[in-house]
Amino acid sequence: MIIQCPNCKTKFKVDNNLIPSEGKKVKCSQCGEIWKTNRDDEISSLSGLWLFWIITILLTSIIIYIGLIIVYGNKIPIPQILINILIDLGVPIEGGNLFGRNFSR
Ligand SMILES: [Zn+2]
Repeated sequence: MIIQCPNCKTKFKVDNNLIPSEGKKVKCSQCGEIWKTNRDDEISSLSGLWLFWIITILLTSIIIYIGLIIVYGNKIPIPQILINILIDLGVPIEGGNLFGRNFSR
């Protein structure tokens, strides 16, 4: 499991079996802080993993969506607010010059 020093926030990987169920005093090798850790102190790596995947999927979706807009332009539904943002960014929604190529739709 992973425990975190409450003083300097350094994270340590500790063998779960070394921490008894009643907890154990541990010393930070970075700053010398001594604190009592419990098995419950474990930082959930599961929620971190979930967060990683949610962000990854979200970013991938946004990139694919913007890619579709660049390729298909106004043939796919785009919210007006996004059109304004994309036009500000120089994406030729209504056709025009993209990466040196002329686009017409
Ligand atoms: Zn520390």
